[in-house]
Amino acid sequence: MHLLCKCGCDMWNGRIPNDIEFSVYSDKRMCEILENDTVDTLDLAQMNDYDVWKCPDCGRLYVFEKSSCEVLCIYKPEDITDDQ
Ligand SMILES: [Zn+2]
Repeated sequence: MHLLCKCGCDMWNGRIPNDIEFSVYSDKRMCEILENDTVDTLDLAQMNDYDVWKCPDCGRLYVFEKSSCEVLCIYKPEDITDDQ
């Protein structure tokens, strides 16, 4: 799947592994997973709460509805160097 970032970067998750996709697990979900010590690695890959893509150029995060191509929200990094 390709996704065009707002900065113009063409993100693509066709390469396995890649640095675009991230799997996000809530603390609650991770506790549930750790309680089951026989989780198959393929199952583990499907137990995340959100799929997130990170643009390698600008760092924006695109959060997807799990197992969907629908973007729920986009996070743009703020410059924190001037706030201190
Ligand atoms: Zn970008």
